[in-house]
Amino acid sequence: MRRILFIHFLIIASMSACQRRAEFVVPATAGMNWFKGNTHTHTTMSDGDSPPEVVARWYKEHGYRFLVLSDHNVFTDPVNLAALVDSTFLLIPGEEITAGFRKKPVHINGLNLSQLITPVFDSSLVGTIQKNVDAVRAGNGVPHINHPNFRWAFSQDELLQINNDKLLEIFNGHPQVHNLGGGGWPGMEQVWDHLLTNGKEIYGIAVDDAHHFQGEFAPPRSNPGRGWVVVRAKNLAAREIVANLENGWFYASTGVELDDIVVTPEQIEIRITPIRDFKFRTEFIGSGGKVLLKSESNPAIYKLTGNEKYVRAKVSDSGGFAAWTQPVLVR
Ligand SMILES: [Zn+2]
Ligand SMILES: [Zn+2]
Repeated sequence: MRRILFIHFLIIASMSACQRRAEFVVPATAGMNWFKGNTHTHTTMSDGDSPPEVVARWYKEHGYRFLVLSDHNVFTDPVNLAALVDSTFLLIPGEEITAGFRKKPVHINGLNLSQLITPVFDSSLVGTIQKNVDAVRAGNGVPHINHPNFRWAFSQDELLQINNDKLLEIFNGHPQVHNLGGGGWPGMEQVWDHLLTNGKEIYGIAVDDAHHFQGEFAPPRSNPGRGWVVVRAKNLAAREIVANLENGWFYASTGVELDDIVVTPEQIEIRITPIRDFKFRTEFIGSGGKVLLKSESNPAIYKLTGNEKYVRAKVSDSGGFAAWTQPVLVR
């Protein structure tokens, strides 16, 4: 009897030891493929300089697998562009719902919408953001919050009050959106860490917000090819792509490509795609935006210590481009 009790004690003790041990939450992405796409771009249906077919063709010819045409308060139905859609290229219907509060622009993208969403206005800034996020959800779309630093519109504490949103632009290719902050105002990566540190599960996307497909391609212009996401998915289907964006099964990039991101309960391994003689530096970042580890190796590997809440990585190359992996939560 005493022996049975002792074995019982051992089982209970080992079970509680298992429960105590921290581990990374492993994404269920086995066997999935990677698809590059952009979720924010403009055409002559609003303030872009080229018609939808020219814009969509630009992305298709540059190796993108999916695109959202997101015009201001205009729903561009991809049905009219069916000739461009095939097994290599998908158009996901969308819109940039363009509202505002006083002088502050409130721009919320709706991905995979079935029809136009009319912008909603409210008596507060937070209320205006929330009501437009809610309107996208009510239309069975996926919202993302656009360029918070454009005209210094939203603070990080206002963004923390928004519910039911999972995607935030941490890089937007438009020249006037102040991705990096300054003058005491946080940059988008700092904002992202502020939200994550305060327990909000939110993923960082990079987008073009392109308007200019004609003429010179130059930094002061709003050209395509500056920011994108690479999403893991079973197949190239709109619902699958937007669902996996909201699962955080993707990375955002301005130029750095990744071969793979391998998460196990104990570690995160980032396999960077080599390009010519470029060199890479990977920072693994946790709560409060603290850099937990810097790696100059490829692959870059972070081993869990057990004290983290989340770990994300930023891979920078020697030419100034970057890729951002999504936060892996610790349980
Ligand atoms: Zn906008
Ligand atoms: Zn835009």
